[in-house]
Amino acid sequence: MAEPSTAPWQDVADRVYVRRYRFFDQGIGLILGDGAALIIDTRTTPAHARELRGEIRALTDLPVDAVVNTHAHSDHCFGNATFDPLRIWGQRGAVRWLADTGERQRAGLMASIPDLAEELAQVVLRPPDTLVDERATVLVGGRPVELAFHGRAHTDHDLIVAVPDAGVVFAGDIIDEGNAPYFGDGFPIAWPDTLGAFLAGHPEPIVVPGHGAVVDRAFVERQRGQILALAAACRQVAAGAITADDLAACAPFPEPTVRAALERALLELAADSRA
Ligand SMILES: [Zn+2]
Repeated sequence: MAEPSTAPWQDVADRVYVRRYRFFDQGIGLILGDGAALIIDTRTTPAHARELRGEIRALTDLPVDAVVNTHAHSDHCFGNATFDPLRIWGQRGAVRWLADTGERQRAGLMASIPDLAEELAQVVLRPPDTLVDERATVLVGGRPVELAFHGRAHTDHDLIVAVPDAGVVFAGDIIDEGNAPYFGDGFPIAWPDTLGAFLAGHPEPIVVPGHGAVVDRAFVERQRGQILALAAACRQVAAGAITADDLAACAPFPEPTVRAALERALLELAADSRA
């Protein structure tokens, strides 16, 4: 028998659920209010999104009336069109970013996961339509859900989703449990400050990362410390004080992660020095 593609819905707090998928070890959030539900992220393909829709239906009779995209990476928004015509919330930068990178993301995934190519060909790139600059409150059947953008980190448009009455905050991919954070489109120099703003702005004790297991604030503080150390070392490379090899040897993440982060950090420092 095939292994299940997913663990059951995890009841993380009052009417707040996470479903953790084997694919990319991704967590999808579901928030129930009075008479309505909201989902956080839509998975990678139409089939994934339809599977998610069925799993929501198995858990609750409440209609989903809104979607949030934490950011515009394929695994977080390629399922969007399956939820049409629902309102889809996102940070303003997600629209441009999906327009700029959507086809490149599709092609990259097709090349790396050929078994998924047919499904990926059917993805309709559908950006968020209800845009947030810094903050917004969404009422899910009257239950307040807070959306916030704290600055550049994993992308330039990471949107945080907090459920204050349940003590839960969904961090998207600015926090990663189980793997090192993904720096390929990230901003390693700015990222620690963004996590600082996240910690200051969200007292919620339960933190749901975009990938891996549910964590707590202490985990966020530890990962922030690691990224801060990495950013400091990248600055030293930029200043010629240490080499990229020195950095790879001492950094708190695996070498491919560190090299990707350094490449991004050098771009970031160069852009900052021009500004
Ligand atoms: Zn991501």
